[in-house]
Amino acid sequence: MIQTEDMEFAPRVISPENTTEDSDIELSLRPQTLHEYIGQDKAKENLAVYIEAAKRRSEPLDHVLLYGPPGLGKTTLSAIIAHELGVNLRVTTGPAIEKPGDLVSLLTSLSDNDVLFIDEIHRLSRAVEEILYPALEDRVIDIIIGKGPAARSIRMDLKPFTLIGATTRAGQLSAPLRDRFGVVQRLELYNKEQLTDIIRRSAMILGIPCTADGAGEIAGRARGTPRIANRLLKRVRDFADVMGNGQITQEIASIALSKLEIDDLGLDGLDRRMLEMIIKGYGGGPVGLETLASAINEESVTLEDVCEPFLMQLGFLGRTPRGRVATRLAYEHLGIVPPEQQQSSGDDGQLSF
Ligand code: ADP
Repeated sequence: MIQTEDMEFAPRVISPENTTEDSDIELSLRPQTLHEYIGQDKAKENLAVYIEAAKRRSEPLDHVLLYGPPGLGKTTLSAIIAHELGVNLRVTTGPAIEKPGDLVSLLTSLSDNDVLFIDEIHRLSRAVEEILYPALEDRVIDIIIGKGPAARSIRMDLKPFTLIGATTRAGQLSAPLRDRFGVVQRLELYNKEQLTDIIRRSAMILGIPCTADGAGEIAGRARGTPRIANRLLKRVRDFADVMGNGQITQEIASIALSKLEIDDLGLDGLDRRMLEMIIKGYGGGPVGLETLASAINEESVTLEDVCEPFLMQLGFLGRTPRGRVATRLAYEHLGIVPPEQQQSSGDDGQLSF
């Protein structure tokens, strides 16, 4: 069956990272205006004021740093900001700007008040970052011409522009770079109602019949992330087409998501493996992130950027200076008796692993 093959070869279905498959539909699903952008009310309210003020003064918007886990709408929000400002948007990523010259040509090609969006800005090289400082602060760049003793520096003025930087790791940004953003905005995981609205909107755009309960069922398992919600919607549609009459109902969604091994709270195999390792392998923790990652044979960045924000939001995981700990809620969700109850019930407290 097509679905089975799909599932076997597909990347982790609830990874919030962008995939080529996502890119096809993401364009059509991206909201264009702040009004269409669901949730993130605090960020939206603040940005609406800054955008309006910049427009009234015919000035560029102050530089903006957006941070938060992948798939929450940072790229989408940047495009909306440019759209609301009525200016052009240039999109690039930190790793794509390899040399200072790459950044210079990007900056010099901008028109008045344009927005330059740099995704994964924490991955800019030091040399590139240094070009950025005077560009952000004084709208100038210093270009070195020639080499050795004959080298000289030429200062070039830039047109007014706005940099929007996005990162999943604000902590990894150097202090001088972070300080040059006038607006620093954190994006939060979405609640179930907001994700339900996002799914219903996407279903309408894609022409997928979907009941409110069906959308709610998917929303409840999309780990607070619109990109995952949209991806699950597409997967569940396959099941609805094959198992039903094409309409996504709560029942179809529930069956489909179980087949995708996503449990009723949205945890997938990796989340469960991580928690089980902390509990069964390290007595509930604390255990260091690197140790944990190698114990389950996974990249530590994946655990940190993808699993942890969600597990912490659920209250399943705690971060202490000595490492990660599983909470009582995590034990309960996995059906493992917490240590304090094991002692009170006369259990020997030994956890098999
Ligand atoms: P990020 O840049 O944070 O990784 P994106 O901006 O690429 O995330 O968002 C991923 C997808 O999720 C987009 O294609 C968009 O369709 C959807 N999305 C994100 N935020 C929202 C939102 N607030 N309302 C509706 N759809 C959203």
